Amino acid sequence: KPVIVAIDGPAGTGKSSTSKAVAAQLGLSYLDTGAQYRAITWWMVNNGIDIDDPSAIAAVAGKPEIVSGTDPAGPTITVDGIDVAGPIRTQEVSSKVSAVSAVPEVRTRITELQRSLATSAQDGIVVEGRDIGTTVLPDADLKVFLTASPEARAARRSGELKGADVHATREALIKRDAADSSRKTSPLAKADDAVEVDTTDLTLQQVIECVVTLVEE
Ligand code: C5P
Repeated sequence: KPVIVAIDGPAGTGKSSTSKAVAAQLGLSYLDTGAQYRAITWWMVNNGIDIDDPSAIAAVAGKPEIVSGTDPAGPTITVDGIDVAGPIRTQEVSSKVSAVSAVPEVRTRITELQRSLATSAQDGIVVEGRDIGTTVLPDADLKVFLTASPEARAARRSGELKGADVHATREALIKRDAADSSRKTSPLAKADDAVEVDTTDLTLQQVIECVVTLVEE
């Protein structure tokens, strides 16, 4: 039976780098569910939908066609055939994605996509997000919840954004995590049966080894 690994946690804990590397090392597919929420947010912004109006978002949640490529060596994401891998990483999308992903119609839609990709992955899959272990794939073979101190998370994210202000990055991350944790529909949360790994004092390589060991156990 193909193995299903769920990796959840807040932003800046190394979820994407860890998930991709674990999938590559074990020959599994890889799905970045944050990229899907970013992609639908990009479409909403691009189509002039009022982000502050949940009913306006709900009304068009079914419209964009979102396709994820699940090769860990080169994951892809398109919306209506447009490659949005770059545009979904802008600060504008980052600041709006929590509001869009709090809309239940958006979550239902994206969750369906995630389940269908996970069940069709022949060799198994690593799925990273916020609610994978709790809601999307509650029967996953392994659930990991990554954490790190706010300082470590902000420092990592600023490093990725090359020279971005650590303080501003920290404030933006804290705000996004608070919104993600407090929404009513499948908030950011650790599943009761998830293994929690605090990455604050670990290198990326150590986190990868830790998760690979957990999968192989
Ligand atoms: O993982 P990343 O930081 O790219 O996720 C972007 C946003 O997408 C999160 O802040 C959250 O609002 C939303 N998200 C979600 N559920 C998931 C994955 C991401 O609501 N499973």
